[in-house]
Amino acid sequence: MTDAERGAALEVIADEVRVCTRCRLHETRAKAVPGEGNPDTEVVFVGEGPGRDENQAGRPFVGASGRLLTELIESIGWQRDDVFITNVVKCWPPGNRDPQPDEIAACAPFLERQLAVLDPAVVVTAGKHSLSVFMPGERIGRVHGTSRPADPATGARDALVFAMYHPAFALYDGSNRSTLETDIGGLPETLLAARDRRADRAAATEPPAAARPAADTEPPAASDPEPAAEPAAAAPSTFHPVVEPDPGPSFLVGTEPDADQLTLF
Ligand code: SF4
Repeated sequence: MTDAERGAALEVIADEVRVCTRCRLHETRAKAVPGEGNPDTEVVFVGEGPGRDENQAGRPFVGASGRLLTELIESIGWQRDDVFITNVVKCWPPGNRDPQPDEIAACAPFLERQLAVLDPAVVVTAGKHSLSVFMPGERIGRVHGTSRPADPATGARDALVFAMYHPAFALYDGSNRSTLETDIGGLPETLLAARDRRADRAAATEPPAAARPAADTEPPAASDPEPAAEPAAAAPSTFHPVVEPDPGPSFLVGTEPDADQLTLF
């Protein structure tokens, strides 16, 4: 899928969200909040639901929590525009209450479709309701700052899930900000681990040359060898890192990370 196709597919989903009446939250919303960001990103942040400011703006994370999320993203050298940001439910729960299970279930197909289109390497959960979708049964206090493989049924078919507190955690109590900063500091390493994992899995599903079925057509002459196919990951992209991570031993085995390796775009 090209960048343009991916962007168009996300806009189709967003248009459906804006007129959705699948759950009661449509009755009290001002604007639905489908999500926004880079359609070619490797990292998707999933919050819980729009707040009062987001309900008015029709955009995710634009209030105080959004400003803190942007600061946290920038603290690791990335930009907000580099990632995609969305929520478990796309409409404001009145009074900023928690989304109800039936509302989360009604809205789930939109998130699944967004993740299927984006195919991220890392899904960052922001808050306990997002965590409950991607790490069912886990407690945020136990798993924040850690990652595990995503269940493909979530729509993220080959991703690591990285758990974080919601930014509001630090707005209620400023002393919690350091926890968020420490946790997001582990996100670049998680992205590198996710890339390695995806590369390994892609290699494992690629049949060895000798095992590949013979082509129907005449094989090329020995003097005219078939050019080796470029691996998809090596295709040039406007949005992927300029400096690829060193595939050899890296900070993942204990040494300090090279700052260039942590560049998302
Ligand atoms: Fe539809 Fe989701 Fe909004 Fe409910 S929260 S009305 S399911 S878009």
